[in-house]
Order: sequence, then structure tokens, then C-alpha cells
Amino acid sequence: MYSEVFTLHSKLLKALSNPKRLEILHLLRNSELTVSSIQKMLYLPQGNLSQHLMVLREAHVVATRRKGREIYYKIAHTNFIKASDLIRELLIKQHKDNPQMKELTRNMTDLVPLTQDPVCKMRISPKTASFVTKLNGNPFYFCASGCYKKFKENKEKYLKTAQI
Ligand SMILES: [Zn+2]
Repeated sequence: MYSEVFTLHSKLLKALSNPKRLEILHLLRNSELTVSSIQKMLYLPQGNLSQHLMVLREAHVVATRRKGREIYYKIAHTNFIKASDLIRELLIKQHKDNPQMKELTRNMTDLVPLTQDPVCKMRISPKTASFVTKLNGNPFYFCASGCYKKFKENKEKYLKTAQI
């Protein structure tokens, strides 16, 4: 029985063992999202995203719900969020002497309770944002790599509408 649990555990970790899939998990921590929103936030080709979602679904990391034409994805169990937060916390500690990580965590823990992704307008907390960048001294937080990339490509446009 023990070995069976280890096998199941390693299968689950295998399903999670991809930066994009971890990003999807992180993205879904606050809300249920449709495939098209996830796609926009990650800036991934549809086929590529579908594959990642399938792996996560087969591992029962995410659950789906159909509403009309849309399929909504959510995290199947809050323990996945807890586990990923714990690992993230540990990684930040382990890499605390890395100057890049230092800057990142400093921005992540700025005392802003809730902010808005300037690209997709999702409400996010700085602690759990996937990306952060500073512009003119103001931090901007992003739900995922897609929004961060779009922001970098078109700063002027998003700066005009951003809440600071
Ligand atoms: Zn976003």
C-alpha cells in the first residue's frame, strides 16, 4: 500500500512538473476561468494550452464545469493551492540571497492588500501575483506571463488605464 501511494504521488508530481502548468494552477487559485481567458492570460497557442489542461484534468488537479458554450476550469481541491504556496514560500527562502529573487519578493510583499492586473483587470493580491514589474517607482502585478508580456510590449496603452 505504501509503495502504491508513492507511485500515485509521483504521477501527480509528474503532471505538475511543467512551468506552464504550474502557472495555470497559480492562475486558477483565485477564480474559476474559461479556456479563452486562460489563453489570453498566458499568451499560449490554443493547442498547447489544451494539452496542458488535459494533463491537469487527468491528474484531477483541475475540475471542469460547462456553462452554455463555455467550459470553466477550477482547482479541484484547495490542498493543491496550499501545497504550491508552501513550496513557493520555501523556494523564496532558499533563494533569498539571489538578488533577483530579493527584488521580486520585496515587491511581492509590498503592503498592498489587493490590486488589479492592468491588462486583464483581474483582482489579484501582490503576494500571489505571478509577475511583478516596477515602472516609475510603482509596482504592477500580473496574473500570468501572457499579461506581463502584453504589458511590456505596450506599456503606454496600459499605463493610461492602470489603477495605481
Ligand atoms: Zn492578467
